[in-house]
Amino acid sequence: MHLNKVLRAGVQAGLRFQSTSAQAGVKVAAATSTSAHGGFCFELTDQQKEFQALARKFAREEIIPAAPGYDKSGEYPVPLIKKAWELGLMNGHIPEDCGGMGLGIFEACLITEELAYGCTGVQTAIEANSLGQMPVIIAGNDAQKKKYLGRLTEEPLMCAYCVTEPGAGSDVAGIKTQAVRKGDDYVINGQKMWITNGGKANWYFLLARTNSDPKCPASKAFTGFIVDADTPGVQPGRKEMNMGQRCSDTRGITFEDVVVPKENVLIGEGAGFKIAMGAFDKTRPPVAAGATGLAQRALDEATKYALERKTFGKLIAEHQAVSFILAEMAMKVELARMAYQRSAWEVDLGRRNTYYASIAKAFAGDIANQCAADAVQIFGGNGFNSEYPVEKLMRDAKIFQIYEGTAQIQRLIISREHFDRFKQ
Ligand SMILES: Cc1cc2nc3c(=O)[nH]c(=O)nc-3n(C[C@H](O)[C@H](O)[C@H](O)COP(=O)(O)OP(=O)(O)OC[C@H]3O[C@@H](n4cnc5c(N)ncnc54)[C@H](O)[C@@H]3O)c2cc1C
Repeated sequence: MHLNKVLRAGVQAGLRFQSTSAQAGVKVAAATSTSAHGGFCFELTDQQKEFQALARKFAREEIIPAAPGYDKSGEYPVPLIKKAWELGLMNGHIPEDCGGMGLGIFEACLITEELAYGCTGVQTAIEANSLGQMPVIIAGNDAQKKKYLGRLTEEPLMCAYCVTEPGAGSDVAGIKTQAVRKGDDYVINGQKMWITNGGKANWYFLLARTNSDPKCPASKAFTGFIVDADTPGVQPGRKEMNMGQRCSDTRGITFEDVVVPKENVLIGEGAGFKIAMGAFDKTRPPVAAGATGLAQRALDEATKYALERKTFGKLIAEHQAVSFILAEMAMKVELARMAYQRSAWEVDLGRRNTYYASIAKAFAGDIANQCAADAVQIFGGNGFNSEYPVEKLMRDAKIFQIYEGTAQIQRLIISREHFDRFKQ
């Protein structure tokens, strides 16, 4: 079944913790106050359960069997992406008036967690579309949204978020790519690095400096553009061979005298930095959901193994030292899930969620790494071997502490937000 059919079925459960819109959020508050469950309910709606079930089925039946092959070959998983697109499991939050489903971040996260359980290489390729789209969703005008988001609903095309450069990742304000106004166009020159879907995208969101005065504040110095990938002068580099998530396409891209019409500027000159950073409030919850999916997979694989492998005459699960590792993993997975759900719920209510999004991203990224390493430990020597599933999880997990803001940058944001709250 396509996700849209589930959506149209319009299942209306009574009480919910989750909502797809700010409006629904108001209803939640009213409903929960009269609820037998009290003011807080963790139950998914029937519709959300159906989204989750569809993504789970796809991950278990199609992604898991194919994932080891893609990990070895590094090939881009085109058939899986096409199938996910056909099922409505990607681009879910493209607004309805652009041909999308207008899902909330919460629903997107439920789907992402399931896809990540199957393979985070595949999930990252899919999720990079959301990252590329988000600046257009939050800042695009009607014509830009219809043209560029609409395109993605008509066929399984990819897009990408083009911000990082060889010399600037965490320090976004340090990027050097320049856009110079010439009549009704801008001419862009520069070098981007580590762009997911870099060689597969149909269009890019690109951040460039439009004010050359080094004293100009970041909030005014940069502009966000939509750049068609087939524009002359756009030159994607070779596919990078990364530690994990190897089927995801990561590349450097050179922009040489790339002419972009002024119609492709988001909001206006100088607005780019806020747009590029603002997108993260909506994309970090799904990244955290992806890390949670990986951690859940590590827990399940380790549990299964611990219930089969015997040492000293009993199952290793019966050694307390092993069962306590599993208990710790379970605690972390549950808390990471709650953290991403809270951060998604906040932003779907229309509230500023920067604090919660960074907590979720930092925590889930860390516990994905811890759980994957614990799973390798529980597998013993087999854990170190590529015939077993957990060494891939350990390699795949690392990037969750790096992309979309490193573990350190999340802590910077959390501490800043924390002090602001404390002083209020
Ligand atoms: C596989 C992959 C996919 C990616 N996909 C994309 C993409 O689609 N689009 C895109 O634009 N970018 C993408 N990136 C880039 C990614 O977001 C950056 O790599 C990341 O933000 C870190 O930047 P950097 O690599 O320049 O590291 P640096 O910023 O050089 O950081 C190096 C180290 O210093 C630490 N550090 C830096 N500054 C501070 C500070 N102030 N306080 C404390 N510690 C600090 C960092 O945490 C890190 O440990 C991707 C990267 C990878 C590897």
